Amino acid sequence: MNKLSPVSWSAQDAAELYRVSDWGAGYFSVSAKGELQVSPFADDPAVCVSLVDIISGIRDRGMDMPVLLRIENLLDNSLSRLNEAFAAAIEQAGYQSCYRGVFPIKVNQQCHVIEEIARFGSRYHHGLEAGSKAELLVALANIRDDDSCIVCNGYKDQEFIDLGLMACQLGVNCFFVIETPNELPLILERSEALGVSPMIGLRLKLTTQVDGHWSKDSGDRSLFGLTTAQLIDIVDQLKLANKLDCLQLLHFHLGSQITNIRNVRSGLQEACRVYVDLKQEGAGLGYLDLGGGLAVDYDGSRSNTCHSKNYQLDEYCADIVETIMDILDPLGIEHPVIITESGRATVAHSSVLLFNCLSVTHFDPAPLSPELPEDSPELMKNLLWVLETVRPDNLQECYNDALYYRDEIREEFRRGEVKLRTTALAENLFLAILQRIVQCMPEARRVPAELENLHESLADIYYGNFSVFQSLPDSWAIEQVFPIMPVHRLGEKPTRRAIIADLTCDCDGKIDRFIDGQSTLPVHSLKDDEDYMLGIFLVGAYQETLGDLHNLFGDTHVVSARINRDGSYDFVREIEGDSIADVLNYVEYYPQALVERFRNTAEQAVRSGRISAAVRKQMMEAFSASLRGYTYFEK
Ligand code: PLP
Repeated sequence: MNKLSPVSWSAQDAAELYRVSDWGAGYFSVSAKGELQVSPFADDPAVCVSLVDIISGIRDRGMDMPVLLRIENLLDNSLSRLNEAFAAAIEQAGYQSCYRGVFPIKVNQQCHVIEEIARFGSRYHHGLEAGSKAELLVALANIRDDDSCIVCNGYKDQEFIDLGLMACQLGVNCFFVIETPNELPLILERSEALGVSPMIGLRLKLTTQVDGHWSKDSGDRSLFGLTTAQLIDIVDQLKLANKLDCLQLLHFHLGSQITNIRNVRSGLQEACRVYVDLKQEGAGLGYLDLGGGLAVDYDGSRSNTCHSKNYQLDEYCADIVETIMDILDPLGIEHPVIITESGRATVAHSSVLLFNCLSVTHFDPAPLSPELPEDSPELMKNLLWVLETVRPDNLQECYNDALYYRDEIREEFRRGEVKLRTTALAENLFLAILQRIVQCMPEARRVPAELENLHESLADIYYGNFSVFQSLPDSWAIEQVFPIMPVHRLGEKPTRRAIIADLTCDCDGKIDRFIDGQSTLPVHSLKDDEDYMLGIFLVGAYQETLGDLHNLFGDTHVVSARINRDGSYDFVREIEGDSIADVLNYVEYYPQALVERFRNTAEQAVRSGRISAAVRKQMMEAFSASLRGYTYFEK
C-alpha cells in the first residue's frame, strides 16, 4: 500500500525508519526539529549542523538544487580513522614497521578532494595511487613529503616511466607496479638512461576468490596481475640485470567492496607466502601493498551482502597486522611497511547529493460516484461488482476478475466499441480494486504470491531534480544501493511510499531499490508552498567521474563545507555546475554557432512580418540566457 497510516511519530522513529545510525557511521542523526544533521567531531557530538541550514545557505548564495555537498571534515575524519586504526593495531601487536595509506585517485579525481587528501593526509604521510599518466601528474603535484608513497599501477609507457623516475630523483617514494611481464625491460632501459634506480613493485594475481559484486573477476580469472610463472620470470630477469634490490614492493588487489573479512585474510596469507619466497630469493622487498577493497556499509546491515561488510575497521586492521606477523615471524623476516589503497572507504561518506522533488504521480483512484452512468457496458458493471466483493479470503479471485474485465474494456476501446470516458472510468475502478485488495492483505490468512508486490504498482513516483546517469551511475550500472531519505519534515510521519524518478525521462533513470531491501521509499506528501528535499548519501566514491551526460544533464554544482567547533560552518569552495553551453561543447556543438543559426531564423521571421524586431530581441536574449543556464530544473 502506498499510504502509511499517520499515528504518533517522533524524530527518533524517522531515524529508525531510514536506518540513519546503521549507515551514518556516527556522522548523521535526526534533530528534535526533524532535520537531518551532521556531527563531524567524535569527541564532541553536540556540534551538529542541520543540512536544511546548509541548503538555505547554499540557496542564499544563489545556487539552485541539485547540489553535491562535500563535507570536508568527514573526509579528514575518514583519513584519521583509517590511519589511527592501523597505528593502534600496529602498536597493540608490536608490529615492527608502519602503515602508509595511498588514496587511489580514480575513486574521486576532483581537484578539491585530492588537494584535501594530500593536505590533511600529510600528517599521516598518506600518499596517492596513480593508474595513468594524468593521475601521476596529479600525484606529483600534490605529494611533497618524502615519507609518503606514490604507487603507479596500470600500463606504463616511456613518458609515464620517465615521470616516475624523475619523482624518485626528487626523493619521492614512487613505485612502478608491474602488471605484465613486458613492462620490465622498458623500466630497466629508462632507469639506465636517466641514471635513476627504480622502485619496482609486482602485482600478484592471487588464486583467492572474493565474495560480493566482483567475485567473478577475482581469483584465476582476475584481469590484472602476474601469475606465479610470470613472477619467477621477472625475478630471474632482475637477477640477471643485477637489480633484484630494486624489487621493493609486492602488490595485490582482491577487488573493490570486499564484503567478507575472511577473503581479506586468505588473500593476504597467499600474498605473504609469495613475499617470504621472494625475500628469500634476495629481493629488496620492504613494502606490502594490499590494494583497495575496504568496504562501505551502504545498507547498514553489517552483513557480507554486496552493499555491506561483515567487519569493522579495527578488525580489518588487526587482521592484516596479525596475518602478516603470523607468517613472517616464524621465518624471522622483517615486517614490511603496510600499504592499502582504500578508496571508497576514504571518500564515500564525505559527499551527499541534495535535490528537490519537482512533482509526483499518484496511482490512487479518483473518488468514485456510487452509481455507474446509465449506458455503462456490462463489463463495467462487472468491475463495480468485483470492487464491492473484495474480502480478505477472495483476494486472488478478485484480482483475476478485475484484470480480465479491465483488459476486455481496453480491447473494446481498441476496436472503437467503447469511448475514452468509459475506459477512464474502468481504469479508475481497476485501481480502486487493487487498492482495496492491498488494504485487505493484512487480514488475509495467506497472501497469494502473485499479489505480494501489488503495493508496488500503486506506489507514487516522485520526480527528483537530478540525473541518475550523471550523479549515481553505479545505481544504474551495477544496482548499487545508497541511503536515501528526506532531510527535513522528519518529525512528521511519512504517509506515502514512492519510487524516485530522475529528470532524464529514461526508464532506467529511476531508483527503486532502497537500503531496507524494499522497492519503495517512505516519503511525505508534497506541499505546494515548500520544496521537498532529499539527500542521497555515501556518494563520494566513484560516482562523480563515472557519471555521463545522458540527456545532456551536466555536472551539478559542488559546494564544500567545513564545520567549525563552535557549530558554525564555512563554504570553503564552490564550483558552478555545467551550463548548457558547457555540455553542448562537450558534444561538439559550438554555442556561438547555435546563436548565429537561431538569429538567422528569428531575423527571417522579422522579415516575413511574423514577429517584431523587439520580440526578436527578447528571443535572442532568452536563447543566450538559456545557454548560460544550469542544465537542471531551475525555479
Ligand atoms: N587499487 C586498485 C588497483 C584498484 O583497482 C581499486 C579499485 O578497484 C582500488 C585500489 C580502490 O578500491 P576500493 O575503492 O574498493 O578501496
